[in-house]
Amino acid sequence: MSVRRVSIFGATGSIGENTVDLLARAPDRFRAVALTGGRNVARLAQQACALNAELAVTAFPDLLDDLRSALEGSGIAAAAGPAALLEAADRPADLILSGIVGAAGLPPGLRALRQGTTLALANKESLVCAGPLMMAEAAAHGARILPVDSEHSAVFQALVGEDMAAVERIVITASGGAFRDWPLEALASATLAEASSHPNWDMGQRITIDSASMFNKALELIETREFFGIDPARIETIVHPESLIHALVGFRDGALMAHVGPPDMRHAIGYALNWPDRLDLPVARLDLAQVGSLNFRAPCEKRYPALRLAREVMAARGLSGAVFNAAKERALDHFIAGRIRFTDMSAMVEDVLTRLTGDSGFHADVTLDNVHHADQMARKAADGWLSAEAS
Ligand code: NAD
Ligand code: MG
Repeated sequence: MSVRRVSIFGATGSIGENTVDLLARAPDRFRAVALTGGRNVARLAQQACALNAELAVTAFPDLLDDLRSALEGSGIAAAAGPAALLEAADRPADLILSGIVGAAGLPPGLRALRQGTTLALANKESLVCAGPLMMAEAAAHGARILPVDSEHSAVFQALVGEDMAAVERIVITASGGAFRDWPLEALASATLAEASSHPNWDMGQRITIDSASMFNKALELIETREFFGIDPARIETIVHPESLIHALVGFRDGALMAHVGPPDMRHAIGYALNWPDRLDLPVARLDLAQVGSLNFRAPCEKRYPALRLAREVMAARGLSGAVFNAAKERALDHFIAGRIRFTDMSAMVEDVLTRLTGDSGFHADVTLDNVHHADQMARKAADGWLSAEAS
């Protein structure tokens, strides 16, 4: 089997660590090219040394000296800053995995596509902000995007050998997050610590809180539409508290193909790393007799207003995905900083969407510049909501 050259963007995060783990277990299969991270340069340097990567890059220019000293004597090159991240995306690789969190993942993801390689994409925000642009860039350069989000990997796997024309619907599951069984009145007083604990998955803090509010599922509905090019009316979400079925694809003959497995991101990451092969992965095997039963319930829109907002964004298209994502990112910053309540996040995002996507300027083409502009406007509008509430 030929060796695959792999770069990991966001190596120090939750997705990144799982990817590093899989690469470290299969040194004959994978060679690390570039690893990138944020502020945790000590960990980034450790990972780069463990995988004997060619290059390590931190997104923050002020940390270049720290990264250099952590890599001293290793022979591994160090670089820092946004331009260095883009150059890392130019480095020839058979596969580039993006586990950057947030809209910051868009420029390096787009740049990776330009080298016509395979982009394994955990960074769902880039598809939400700029799905049409990502897909066009991939097509123009003969690149391929493979999903790493567990639901989208599950759909992708259920579609192997199938024709999209035979697909009637796609059902993505949701755990329901930390507050799925809380009384609705209690949500306003949910604390950061309570929102940061996920019942089934071990993930980064931001996506964990987004799971409690279902902003994560909202992003995933949009991601499903952009990725599979399916009519939003054919995309459903269902609460499945056990998180063992990750998604289902319904076909025109009534068959539903489900993807079932333990909640371990190394499955979806490993599937993308090895695609189109299926190789051994170190994930637990399910004992169905022990699982016993699987439960499902319809998501309550009162509990999860984010789902309704996602439908509005899918109907509006244009730059509304970029506005939605940026307003959500800012609302999450404010919740984490203790400036707003848990339930204020959806109120803030809805207000920003109403104010900005009514503007005809937001139906301009989805170019990188326009997405960036919409993103900045939405962040400003979200901050404006906060000052208006405070006064
Ligand atoms: P995380 O916060 O644990 O890690 C994020 C990574 O991005 C870190 O390496 C961080 O240093 C880097 N980063 C942060 N800001 C950056 C910036 N401005 N520029 C460059 N790099 C930056 O996040 P995560 O939980 O691993 O999630 C990563 C992505 O994967 C998100 O888009 C998330 O929605 C998606 N995802 C995560 C999981 C999961 O299990 N964690 C599952 C499905 C999808
Ligand atoms: Mg997911």
